[in-house]
Amino acid sequence: MNVLVINCGSSSLKFQLINSDSEQVLAKGLCERIGIDGSLTYQPEGGEKVKSDKAMPTHTEAIQFVIDALTDAETGVVKSLSEIGAVGHRVVHGGEKFASSVVITDEVKQAIEDCNDLAPLHNPANLIGINACQKLMPNTPMVAVFDTAFHQTMPEKAYMYGLPYEYYDKYKVRRYGFHGTSHSFVSKRAAELLEKPYDQVKTIVCHLGNGASICAVENGKSVDTSMGLTPLEGLVMGTRSGDIDPAILEFISKKEGLDIAGLMNMLNKKSGVFGLSNNLSSDFRDLEDGANSGNNEARIALEVFAYRVAKYVGSYVAAMNGVDVIAFTAGIGENSGTVRSSVLKYLGYLGISVDEDANKKRGEEIAISTADSKVKVMVIPTNEELAIARETVALV
Ligand code: ADP
Repeated sequence: MNVLVINCGSSSLKFQLINSDSEQVLAKGLCERIGIDGSLTYQPEGGEKVKSDKAMPTHTEAIQFVIDALTDAETGVVKSLSEIGAVGHRVVHGGEKFASSVVITDEVKQAIEDCNDLAPLHNPANLIGINACQKLMPNTPMVAVFDTAFHQTMPEKAYMYGLPYEYYDKYKVRRYGFHGTSHSFVSKRAAELLEKPYDQVKTIVCHLGNGASICAVENGKSVDTSMGLTPLEGLVMGTRSGDIDPAILEFISKKEGLDIAGLMNMLNKKSGVFGLSNNLSSDFRDLEDGANSGNNEARIALEVFAYRVAKYVGSYVAAMNGVDVIAFTAGIGENSGTVRSSVLKYLGYLGISVDEDANKKRGEEIAISTADSKVKVMVIPTNEELAIARETVALV
């Protein structure tokens, strides 16, 4: 079956058409500047990437252009819409309502809308994408795959904040976690590579991208993860602060005259390694170049990032009373041997020994620990689109 995977943002939409039997990507692309002017980038398998400007007042036009491109006589990869068997939608927040992926019905859409409060930037956009697809493909089954679902197995002790209980009761203020599709995909793959049953392995997945989170997966279940009510908690990220003393907000608010919106903008967009490096960059390639050429703030940013990752890994070893495998994934985790090395140098006490040559490799599935290392360390490229396609096929 061919599955169209849609990741819809407020003004952009990423898509992949995946053949679920061969797991090949038949075509992929991106619509940008929806509601402003509009452009479509489209690349069929083995073909050239083509970018064209197209008027996209709403997501419906954007998806129509995607369908047109996929079925185009010259550059298309299917003859007609009937060759697309299902659509899998990435949905960011499923609250406590969704512990797994679901076939989309009117009730499901209402439940996703009920979670809008928890992810005001993402869920409304995800719903717009679902509605636009349903309008153009009314007879095609659609599935919602949630970033939060995998973490619904977390125990209370991991998801409750030290706040008045009534906020949980009234507003469901608790930790949810994100990147669930990636943590699930990578931890399953780690068990396969270890040749052990998924329900008998303790894995720590370090998803280190622009947004970054760590997850403790014990016997196939997420038992803790570093992001919380929102994707702001946890690691120091590209531009997000991660964990801070909450009282800093009052302090900075008074000093700088910032209101809540100003503070949130500072925490989400101006902090992380970008802020730490004195606005040099949020991209680790720039930071590594900067540090190598003597930029002190870039060096500090990289050290703070790696130290925070290592502390989380240590705390998850405690949470699971051990670990069999640590897996690095996403843009930084897959590509930066330097970051992996800086993290692993804190973890010698676990009996980890690093294969320095293997650790120099980029972007491939590889063990970077030596054969006698007590804990296996691996790089496992994530593939959220493939995971969404698999979930979609399983449900339809
Ligand atoms: P997201 O999906 O959260 O936007 P990605 O997983 O695509 O993030 O990761 C993007 C980040 O990966 C970039 O910001 C960059 O810092 C990092 N990255 C990509 N390639 C490299 C590389 N060769 N070396 C170091 N960092 C890299």
